[in-house]
Parts: sequence; structure tokens; C-alpha cells
Amino acid sequence: MERPELLIPAGNLEKLRTALLYGADAVYVGVEGLSLRAHQAEFNMGELATGVREAHQKQVKVYAALNIFARDRDRQLIVQRAGELAEIGVDAVIVSDPGIVRLLRQNHPQLPLHLSTQANTTNAEAVRFWLEQGVRRIVLARELSLVEVAGIKAAVPEAELELFVHGAMCMAYSGRCLLSAALTGRSANRGECTHPCRWEYALVERTRPNEPLFLEEEAGYSYLLSSRDLRMIEYLPQILAAGVSSLKVEGRMKSAYYVAVVTRTYRWALDAACENLTGYACRPEWLAELDKVSNRGYTTGFYFGEPKDAALNPGHSYRQSHGLAGTVLRYDVPAQRILVELRNRLTAGDETELLLPEQTVPLDSTKMTDEEGKKLAEGHNSYRVYFPVPAGLEIPAGAVLRRRITGD
Ligand code: SF4
Repeated sequence: MERPELLIPAGNLEKLRTALLYGADAVYVGVEGLSLRAHQAEFNMGELATGVREAHQKQVKVYAALNIFARDRDRQLIVQRAGELAEIGVDAVIVSDPGIVRLLRQNHPQLPLHLSTQANTTNAEAVRFWLEQGVRRIVLARELSLVEVAGIKAAVPEAELELFVHGAMCMAYSGRCLLSAALTGRSANRGECTHPCRWEYALVERTRPNEPLFLEEEAGYSYLLSSRDLRMIEYLPQILAAGVSSLKVEGRMKSAYYVAVVTRTYRWALDAACENLTGYACRPEWLAELDKVSNRGYTTGFYFGEPKDAALNPGHSYRQSHGLAGTVLRYDVPAQRILVELRNRLTAGDETELLLPEQTVPLDSTKMTDEEGKKLAEGHNSYRVYFPVPAGLEIPAGAVLRRRITGD
């Protein structure tokens, strides 16, 4: 069996480095002005060149998203950016728009193309069509079942297929949605979705506009249009058996903490599945890890057939029991301590953990000191503080510290 890659979102250079540290095989990034993510989740060309260099040093691939639905006015910028991406040496460009496919084939034929899930590829004939257009890999639509995915692979064995395994889902068909554009003037199809499907809505009877009916679930909320998040870690053997080459995590807008936790958890799970496909059992601690990052309740989406509950999310607003506390700047081995840049407020006594690629190390936050060695009752964003650490660890710069933020 081909060993599939673990593909992780990298919204900026810090997140790309986090993905490298915690075990990604490949990362995907946004390109300024031309990816389906807002500007804060895009790289400029200088940052991208640095990211590609660092990734390639670790044999990690970098795919650049150029997956807007383009207007004619975008043409010049697309061709220019594609030239820059070829020069930087990205491993592939992710596209959705047939016009962009054509433009890139004509102007930069050396650039491998991956077809974005936005292109809604749902059948073997469509896969063949895109291969004939020179596309190397197809990111299948999230609305397929695993039986259908396996059928496509059997029908077109030469196709390289990529599938989402974790992260947010859209209520619209793979993100083709005008809700955000209609309600806020910011278009999801230009990477500016304001996520109005995740807002709360009320029922209003036309003649009684001042008497909205709030549909409250047990938690006091009802997110009628919002979907739960995808989580397929329990079903990796089925994903691999379907013939998928790349397992993709959604979330270029998510935090470096999210990237750290999701990357290392899926790394552990995917390695275990590849070692022993038939004996694979998802470990409870992996599920617990995925509950410690922002999520809206989990679902298997469409992979086992049409979701009867439509994976709807009443009563599930975002949940998150832990958050980013800081990142390691340096490991002072002789003094057995780490210098950390805090990224949030941290109070002495807060439950704090150091996330290493292979293990989680509890830290005693009551022993947090400033750079002069004075004990701190509280630290804030951008403070540089020391924590003592146990002997015998390998602690890379960039490792993430988390703190518990709720009693969940
Ligand atoms: S509003 Fe919701 S369904 Fe529509 S594109 Fe945005 S996240 Fe997807």
C-alpha cells in the first residue's frame, strides 16, 4: 500500500513551522490575493520562499492555493504569481477554476496542479476529465461516501486522490455559498467568508415581527445552519482502503496551537494505521486530544452515507477546553529550563503542558519566572518567561505550551 501523506493547513509562517515540527508530510498555504482565505491566512512571496526552503529541508512538500473563482481582471496577477510560485519551487498549485487551469498549463506547464475541493469533483468521469486537462491530483468533494471514493479510485487507478479527514464543514456544497456575500458583502468565493452559517437565527412570524421565536436547545443556543466538524481519525483504515493518497486537514484560519495538536495526533494515528491496518484501533487519548482544540462537535460527514442529522449543530457553539499559552524560544539544556514567549495571559497555578512531537509534558506554572529568575504570579502576551523542565527531553524551538481554559 502506498503510504499516504498527512497534509496540514499553514495560515502563516509560524503555523507552517509548527506543522513541520509536529509531523506534517505536506502543508498547504494561501497566496496573497488569490486563495480562498482571508488576508490574515495568506503568505507574501518572501515568506513563502522561506517556508518552502525550510519545508524542503525536512522533505515536506508545500502546495500553494490559487483557488479563487477568478474574474478577468485577475488574469495578470494569476500569471505573475504562478511564475513566482514556480521560481520559489512550490510542489504544486491548488486550483478550482478551469480558466486558471488553462492559464497555468499555457504559461507555466512545469507547475503540478491539484484540483481544489471547490471544483466539486464527485465522479470518475470528472476525474478523467481533469487528468486530461493536465491536473495531477484531485481533492474530492466532501459530499462523497467512502464507497464512492473507492469506486472512483478503482475506475481511475492512475488518479492521485486527496480527501479531507478533519476540520470545519460547510452547509453549502463544498463552500459554494453566497450567504456571507449576501449578509455582509464579503464573498466566500473570494476567501472572505464571515461564517454567517455559524450565527444564531430565530424564527419570525410575518405579522409579528417583534416576537421572534428563539429555538433553544439544551445549552440555550441553536445554530440552525451550522455544521459539526469533520473527524475521521477513528476510520483511517477505511480511508486508506479507499485508495486515498493524501489526508487533508482543514483550517488555515486556525491557531498554531490547533495545528500542533491536530498534526501530531493524526501523525500518531496515521503511523499506527500504516503499521498495522487491520489491527488499527483509535486510542481514546487521541480523541481526547482532538477535544482539546476548538471544535463544534464532531461528525463523519458524508463518508458513511448521507448524514441523517445533516451533521447539524444545534446547541453546539465552539468548544475549546485548552488554548495556546506560549511557544518555546530556546531550551537551556544545562540549566534544565525553557525560555518561552507567552501568547496569552498565564497565571501561576494554571494547568500548563508542553507539547512535544511524541509526548505531552506537564509543567509547573507556579515555577514560572521572568528572565532575571524572579517568580511570576502572572504573565501576559509577549512576556518572556522561564519554566523548569524534566531532564532527558529533546525540546525544539517552536514547541507549543497550552493551558486549560475551562473545566471541561
Ligand atoms: S457561510 Fe458557512 S456554509 Fe457558507 S461558505 Fe461560509 S462557512 Fe461555508
